[in-house]
Amino acid sequence: MRRKIIAGNWKMNGDQAFAREFTSEFREAISGFSDGIELILAPPSVYLDRVAQNLEGTPVALAAQNVSEYESGAYTGEVSARMLKDLAVTYCLVGHSERRALYGDTKETVVSKIGRLCEQGIQPILCVGETLEQRSAGQAEQVVAEQLTSVLDSFNDSDLAGLVVAYEPVWAIGTGKTATPEIAQDMHAFVRQVLAEKSQELSRRCPVLYGGSVNAGNAKALFGQNDVDGGLVGGASLKVNEFNNICMSMG
Ligand code: PEP
Repeated sequence: MRRKIIAGNWKMNGDQAFAREFTSEFREAISGFSDGIELILAPPSVYLDRVAQNLEGTPVALAAQNVSEYESGAYTGEVSARMLKDLAVTYCLVGHSERRALYGDTKETVVSKIGRLCEQGIQPILCVGETLEQRSAGQAEQVVAEQLTSVLDSFNDSDLAGLVVAYEPVWAIGTGKTATPEIAQDMHAFVRQVLAEKSQELSRRCPVLYGGSVNAGNAKALFGQNDVDGGLVGGASLKVNEFNNICMSMG
């Protein structure tokens, strides 16, 4: 049985007051969610510690939104995997389309970052997905397969034991255009097939999340698909009631 996960990615939003109010309302709501759903919040790195303190005693896990590809040293402005470990961070997003498009994260950078995370025992949430142009050109599966295999070919099975994959079609991120449940299911089944080429065990165990304009209205249909193990939620994770409803829809 694969883990069910809902992760909220705040991106570069919020402040201390927001973090305080969000976490106190979220804490109240958790007891109403189904048992067995893993809850993850990815606040901006400067608020990781604050959010961890506010959620102490709850099962909510922390994710970072990014990590340096280097271990330590003269890399001004960067945050290392060891620093994240020090803050009790459990997960880290890698390869988010905004990092790939705006900050030049390449397949090689993604592999280096995952390497640093594995060294610290932090579980990578590897984001993959195609642009609209690539989908229109019939290249969606090829793009996703390349993003996945560059990682799968670089690590052994034990390094990948904690891997989580998030299928996030670029055309659906922050656009309000969600993939239909059928599109999501087809791509998730394909992701699982690519994982199986590396290891049957990995394919059986690795949670594959959907991300891209998930909201309280579409979450149930998306999460109801066989190969959709939960969601990576951006914009809607900034509205605590909406996010609570999304968590509630995963039964
Ligand atoms: C994301 O940033 O990972 C994301 C899925 O964003 P949104 O839900 O806003 O589309």
